[in-house]
Amino acid sequence: MQSNLLGRISSSFKPAVQRGKRNPCILFALDPRKYSSGEEADVVVIGSGPGGYVASIKAAQLGMKTVCVEKAETLGGTCLNVGCIPSKSLLNNSHYYHMVHGGQFKARGIEVPTVSLNLEAMMAAKSSTVKGLTGGIAHLFKQNKVTHVKGHGKITGTNEVTALKADGSTEVVRTKNIIIATGSEVAPFAGIEVGRNGRIGEGALLWAARMAGDLAVALKDVEVE
Ligand SMILES: Cc1cc2nc3c(=O)[nH]c(=O)nc-3n(C[C@H](O)[C@H](O)[C@H](O)COP(=O)(O)OP(=O)(O)OC[C@H]3O[C@@H](n4cnc5c(N)ncnc54)[C@H](O)[C@@H]3O)c2cc1C
Repeated sequence: MQSNLLGRISSSFKPAVQRGKRNPCILFALDPRKYSSGEEADVVVIGSGPGGYVASIKAAQLGMKTVCVEKAETLGGTCLNVGCIPSKSLLNNSHYYHMVHGGQFKARGIEVPTVSLNLEAMMAAKSSTVKGLTGGIAHLFKQNKVTHVKGHGKITGTNEVTALKADGSTEVVRTKNIIIATGSEVAPFAGIEVGRNGRIGEGALLWAARMAGDLAVALKDVEVE
């Protein structure tokens, strides 16, 4: 029944498709889960971290038709979302707290009678900074005419990148060039499972709801004399 209906819809739209008219409604009726962006890009950048977003913006400024495929909800990669920016926001604000708490202000003649830490507010300040900067990249993309495709990018041909979207649909982008800027992921320690016995990864630490009593930091590939 449903396929009959789809058949009738697609056959009734056939002449328009054959004439080469682009109409998203018609394409959706023909194949709702797979569609192509149509025109060819000069360059597709996979990943929007500091490597990917800078490459995308520069390519677009040089006059290339640029598409950036990013799998995460927001642009900016590790650095803006879970790395440099949130960690430095927390570090900077913790330093202010330390200066008041540790008596460094008092030594300079600035006396603060009571000092307390509102971790929730500190986390909110960090999140607001992250939101501002990741939104800033989205704004720069628009300003420089970089097309942002949300999805997991995969190279599916010599000149083809396919983005798998959260709803299961795919978008195929034909391109002359491909830049891989997918960054890296943390390598797990053998025998030490993150998420068990209070062990958390560096990303989760940036979203902690309470202060840790003790904190041990494990580093891989570091030589200790
Ligand atoms: C806690 C922390 C603090 C840091 N502090 C600093 C600092 O102070 N100074 C400094 O210089 N560096 C810092 N770094 C390192 C810095 O974050 C990285 O060097 C930088 O983010 C690398 O950029 P990148 O573009 O190569 O990759 P990433 O930033 O990792 O970006 C890669 C992007 O590609 C996306 N992606 C991956 N695979 C796909 C796919 N198949 N399809 C679509 N998208 C995909 C990812 O979602 C991600 O958005 C820090 C890192 C951490 C974890």
